[in-house]
Amino acid sequence: MKKDVCRSCRNKKKYGSQDAAQQRATFMYRKGLQLKPYLCPVCRGWHLTKINWRSRLNRAFAEAGLDPVFVMRRIHADQS
Ligand SMILES: [Zn+2]
Repeated sequence: MKKDVCRSCRNKKKYGSQDAAQQRATFMYRKGLQLKPYLCPVCRGWHLTKINWRSRLNRAFAEAGLDPVFVMRRIHADQS
C-alpha cells in the first residue's frame, strides 16, 4: 500500500455508499462541476474524482474507435 495513496485518501471526502457519492456528484454537476464516484481500494469507501476535459475527449475518441493515447500524446506535444 503506497503512502501517497493514503494521503490522497485522507484529503478526499469519503462517502459510505455509491448512492451517497452519486447524489453529491449530481449536486455538483448542477453547479457546473463534473465528478465521478469511484470505490477506493484503500479505505473501501467512495470518493469523487474530477472528470476533466481530457478524459472526456479520450472517451469520445474511444467511442469513435480511435486510439485515446493519440490524444494524450498530442496534448503533451502541444504543451511542451
Ligand atoms: Zn479512500
